[in-house]
Amino acid sequence: MPIASINPATGETLKTFEAHSDRQIEEKLQIATNTFRSYRLTSFEERSQKMFRVAEILDKEKREFAKMMTTEMGKPIKAAVGEAEKCAWVCRYYAETAQRHLADQFVETDAKRSFVRFQPLGPVLAVMPWNFPLWQVFRFAAPALMAGNVGLLKHASNVPQCALAIEEIFRRAEFPSGAFQTLLIGADKVERILQDDRVAAATLTGSEPAGSSVASIAGKHIKKTVLELGGSDPFIVMPSANLDKAVTTAVKARTINNGQSCIAAKRFIVAADIYDEFEKRFVEEMKALRVGDPLEESTEIGPLATPQILKDLERQVNDAVVQGARLLTGGRRLQRPGNYYEPTVLVDVNPSAPVSCEEIFGPVAMLFRVNDASDAIHLANSTSFGLGSAAWTNDEQEQARFINELEAGCVFINGMVASDPRLPFGGIKHSGYGRELAEFGIHEFVNIKTVWISQ
Ligand code: NAP
Repeated sequence: MPIASINPATGETLKTFEAHSDRQIEEKLQIATNTFRSYRLTSFEERSQKMFRVAEILDKEKREFAKMMTTEMGKPIKAAVGEAEKCAWVCRYYAETAQRHLADQFVETDAKRSFVRFQPLGPVLAVMPWNFPLWQVFRFAAPALMAGNVGLLKHASNVPQCALAIEEIFRRAEFPSGAFQTLLIGADKVERILQDDRVAAATLTGSEPAGSSVASIAGKHIKKTVLELGGSDPFIVMPSANLDKAVTTAVKARTINNGQSCIAAKRFIVAADIYDEFEKRFVEEMKALRVGDPLEESTEIGPLATPQILKDLERQVNDAVVQGARLLTGGRRLQRPGNYYEPTVLVDVNPSAPVSCEEIFGPVAMLFRVNDASDAIHLANSTSFGLGSAAWTNDEQEQARFINELEAGCVFINGMVASDPRLPFGGIKHSGYGRELAEFGIHEFVNIKTVWISQ
């Protein structure tokens, strides 16, 4: 894949980039290693000061960063501004809390003194996706750098301007030049970097095949990994739910980021008693979405990020229809330049058909009718993924069952799944392992060192 910015709303090539040569990669690895030696000794105060500066830059220039994201990968501009603000929030969160999260933990034992100390590991390679081109990177970088590690970013090949802009933000905030570096490389170079002894660990956010590949290489070289992979999140609605709110939130949860979010709700599982009403209103709201130029403030759905994603989505929907699913609205690409696809609703999808098990990246929802909470849980868990889950019910017994029985890294009751710097984020099953954000995220890339001092 060439490293190029191509506007998905127009197909216009904005900029192309020369990939870094082997010699440049070698230089960057060495700079990372050298920087780590001194950077790991810096105080939390010093790191916090710089991280607050990063937050300031993000806040102040959020409109410029938002425009860059929108023109590179097509997210609606309003959401892009929100993403830049959220990046500032995660930087502030770790600037304020890292020292507390990583303070020595004293433990009573038969020693005179025993405690746990958290120390950085070294250069961490981050392989990142294009769908939240700033957020995915900052939610890794803020805790990793606050813990004293240094970062090497291999961003998705279609968002090179964002990748370079992030490196520049850290430089402007006066982090040492090797504390955060962007590598402009294709996926084929990841193995060579991962097997290098100077790289301590890796994190990947992306698809299952990419995660599996990176984890197996890292495993071979005995390196820690965190994997944030795909999802097919259920959104369950039971009879006691507030239907108005549930429908509006369901549409938002499906179509956020033009439907290209790992935690977008993808399967809507609705109790039979309210199913018909839910279906009617859901389809109406999907039809009413404003599709168009993502740079327009009023746009709710922009283009898909690449022509390949559009092709994959068309194939998934067409296959589902061939296998008996019915289209209640949408089902076609829009006849205009850019990678646009109509907001689409599918029903009568066979739960064992590939489309209901695969991740669907685009504004396509599937509705399922179930008899009761047991059926809903069974269907929700019938997937190899386990990222997020949402359940709408005001019945406390049902709430307790969903909290306990849904197989996912999180469960949101009467709300939509969203990440928050204060709460851990991650999945189980094929959605990956490890956690980002909160105290858990900053503990992923540290040596948890036991210290035992004799009487
Ligand atoms: P992707 O194709 O897996 O790419 C993600 C990153 O991995 C890119 O930098 C890509 O580089 C690289 N890559 C791809 N194949 C690789 C390989 N074999 N070895 C090493 N690196 C490889 O995923 P995507 O299409 O960009 O992103 C969408 C996916 O990310 C979805 O599955 C989504 O659910 C998931 N995601 C998960 C989370 C989460 O937190 N769980 C958050 C956001 C997205 P190139 O671009 O150069 O190919």
